[in-house]
Amino acid sequence: MRDPGATPRVTPSCHPPPRRGVSRAQFVAPGSESTAGAASPPAGSGHGLSGTGMDPPTPLPSLIRKKRDGERLEDAEIRSFVRGVTEGTAQQGQIGAMLMAIRLRGMDAGETLALTQAMASSGRTLAWPPAWHGLVVDKHSTGGVGDKVSLALAPALAACGCKVPMISGRGLGHTGGTLDKLESIPGFRVSQSPEEMRHILARVGCCIVGQSAELAPADRVLYGLRDVTATVDSPALITASILSKKAAERLSALVLDVKFGGAALYPTQESARELARSLVEVGTQLGIRTAALLTRMEQPLGRAVGNALEVLEALECLGGRGPPDLRHLVTALGGVLLWQCGMAAGAEQGRERLARALDDGSALGTFEAMLGAQGVPPDTARGLCAGTPAQRRQLLGEAKVCEELPALQEGWVQQVRALPLARVLHGLGAGRARAGDPVNPRVGAELLVGTGQHLRAGEPWLRVHHEGTLGAEGLRELQDALCLGPEPPRDPPPLVAETILPSEPGRAGTPNKPR
Ligand code: URA
Repeated sequence: MRDPGATPRVTPSCHPPPRRGVSRAQFVAPGSESTAGAASPPAGSGHGLSGTGMDPPTPLPSLIRKKRDGERLEDAEIRSFVRGVTEGTAQQGQIGAMLMAIRLRGMDAGETLALTQAMASSGRTLAWPPAWHGLVVDKHSTGGVGDKVSLALAPALAACGCKVPMISGRGLGHTGGTLDKLESIPGFRVSQSPEEMRHILARVGCCIVGQSAELAPADRVLYGLRDVTATVDSPALITASILSKKAAERLSALVLDVKFGGAALYPTQESARELARSLVEVGTQLGIRTAALLTRMEQPLGRAVGNALEVLEALECLGGRGPPDLRHLVTALGGVLLWQCGMAAGAEQGRERLARALDDGSALGTFEAMLGAQGVPPDTARGLCAGTPAQRRQLLGEAKVCEELPALQEGWVQQVRALPLARVLHGLGAGRARAGDPVNPRVGAELLVGTGQHLRAGEPWLRVHHEGTLGAEGLRELQDALCLGPEPPRDPPPLVAETILPSEPGRAGTPNKPR
């Protein structure tokens, strides 16, 4: 496997001292009207959810023309566009045209911030008790193969004293979704009201839930149309989409896992860095302490791919074991977050604190409590968290067929490519082609080898769990995923390539090593 422990690059500068973010109680409706007596921030302050409908509407064709011709949109114009989207007065064609104009002409940081704020203000916002001030954190990943980090990270952070209202998504395309993984656990309910979330956070410290329809509804409309207008990959639109939901969550701190490589949204480190910088800059301006890690996504993270198998591997990690690359990423992301919210003196100290929570059983105990709070029967939660590997597999259910693939020749494992593996598993039912399609939680694969290992011809390297037939094409694609060479591979590059932190005015360029 790759060496997960190699030192990453850090970009670009010194981090300002941790400052507690804003957190409030209960739920705040659009226009900042509290539903539970808690004060909501004045427009433009704190998380900066400003401009909620006071501007006169601007005719959409003139806004589209302006952006089409490469001009900058004013904040009030952006708010007017988002209001049209939310209220349904904008036509689909107009929204699509504006998305394409933004995709082609881009948006500067100020426009992206205004778009994010307008989208965040399009719905209700979560709010928290004052006692949680500065402790409410979340993590977001741009999506990878075998990425079960959230399952281990949320409880580990909660075990360290954070409050983690993690709002996750479902898988679409070749990458898996955290909600699908959790739904392979019998009884697990991803749908929780804001009030239920608050109770779970008070009792357990973390929850992992689906996005409510009331949170950033403008994003739902825009996200749906981006898919069908070839505008998904715009950094400004991705930034606004991700951060509008995080701003509505009223976070104190956020860490982003921005992946790059053959199985990621962005193929190159440079393109991922552009997105990461946009996310960190806008997140910081929203009042959320935001950092991003650029991480490689060429091969699967860990050894398991597929919903139920990934839950089993996350349980291993939560118990202080499991694959080193998964543990490394969980502790690296969590370490930065603990530093961000002032609970650790630096990212390295944060990483060590997170590692202790995995090793001393507190993260696993918190996961068990979260399962119980989200609908899993106590016996099942106990069996999963305290049972043997065989008992755990039995509780999650096993696929009808378990097929091992032999190496077709001798050689040293250079890498196992994630994308073909994910594509074949997707075809076998592990993923969905369209939103709303069912997934088969039992379909997946276990890597039996790691990078740098020697394989003899005929030795098994992959165990595929499925309920159909692999077929000649699927088998060929899977065998192509295994890259063998005549020599052991050279030292692999580090999993975490770079850390992007907010730049401090006047001190840009000073390296700051978080490890
Ligand atoms: N996740 C989101 O929520 N939005 C995007 O645009 C990309 C990833």
